[in-house]
Amino acid sequence: MTTSDQVGLKRVEVHVEGVLRGVGFRPFVHALARRLGLAGQVRDDVDGVHIEIEGARPRVAEFLTALERDAPALSEIERVTVVRAEPTGRRGFAIAAADPAGPRRAAVPADLATCDDCLRELADPADRRHRHPFVSCAGCGPRFTVVRAVPYDRPLTTMAGFAMCPDCVAEYHDPGDRRFHAPPICCPGCGPRLRLLDPGGGELPGDPVATAAALLRAGRIVAVKGLGGYQLA
Ligand SMILES: [Zn+2]
Ligand SMILES: [Zn+2]
Repeated sequence: MTTSDQVGLKRVEVHVEGVLRGVGFRPFVHALARRLGLAGQVRDDVDGVHIEIEGARPRVAEFLTALERDAPALSEIERVTVVRAEPTGRRGFAIAAADPAGPRRAAVPADLATCDDCLRELADPADRRHRHPFVSCAGCGPRFTVVRAVPYDRPLTTMAGFAMCPDCVAEYHDPGDRRFHAPPICCPGCGPRLRLLDPGGGELPGDPVATAAALLRAGRIVAVKGLGGYQLA
């Protein structure tokens, strides 16, 4: 019997493969580990998600069961590999930075339709994203369309050019927030802006939505740029 067996500690390294980016998988792992009082870290990598987990033996077993059973609805786990490791006694659980090296074969999720929570914010005059056309969260919004390379993290998306405002930074780093580590996070203060262009590419003045509506009523055609392409109205 080893020392670690005697104190009832167990450490495992878990490699999860599948569609795990941009679906709230890392925040889910983080919350699960915290709830079970386990130490370790979760890291997104080019070949999937790597988790190191350490704690009381039954808790580690519970973690491994819940990892597949309670995974976010939009994630698709294809394979889970568990390797036993020596406990280190380190405390706390962290989301570690992605490692950009190695072969790039992590799956990128498809764009996801705006979720109910985001739609509520969109319609709420008291919300700071009221009528914000680019509202999204860890569970919805652009994915495949904005990805330039894997791993799917903000610096490797078309959102890289938009520096997050302090409010968005706070949401991005808050494990209790729905936008925790959501790469496309933005708000009216820091994200892309809605514009209405004439056929020559010149920007039309006024509220783009109101002007577009007026043009449509007048029988004109408006091309609406959406995720992955244009729609003709
Ligand atoms: Zn959402
Ligand atoms: Zn912002």
